[in-house]
Amino acid sequence: MSASVVPEIEAANGKYASQFTKGDLPLPPGRKFLVVACMDARLDPARALGLEEGDAHVIRNAGGRTVDALRSVVISQQLLGTREIIIVHHTDCGMLTFSEGDIRAKIRDDLGEDADHIAFLPFGDLKKSVLDDIQLLKKSPLVLDVPITGYIYDVKTGKVEKVET
Ligand SMILES: [Zn+2]
Repeated sequence: MSASVVPEIEAANGKYASQFTKGDLPLPPGRKFLVVACMDARLDPARALGLEEGDAHVIRNAGGRTVDALRSVVISQQLLGTREIIIVHHTDCGMLTFSEGDIRAKIRDDLGEDADHIAFLPFGDLKKSVLDDIQLLKKSPLVLDVPITGYIYDVKTGKVEKVET
């Protein structure tokens, strides 16, 4: 087993907190929008999209799938006043590399458990995954009718490309 990251992150946080000046921010995001993004380690939504503490909600999961983010989207809109949605999927996403059958088989092999009730939501087409996720939000009666823009972030260049709907 490799060494824990705990000492490193605690040291990093000590540095961060020693220079911290944003302790008076209000709870609702100041720029009134939310981002749904893939959890990929190469994508830093704050830096890539110019977010500071207090600006926006950033909801992350494998693939940046909106069905998986629905609970948080509803809380963000209903309780914390966000009124625009940005979706960010990205090139070379791990979700392009497996099927539902693959991961379910791996779980059966590795853990001896049945995960057939979980939708892992891999995809084969990046543009389509963004469009599907925009549609899911637009069709949900729980989600407000707000502007939704989808992007594909390029992990090689750091650029986002808008997906035209
Ligand atoms: Zn990804």
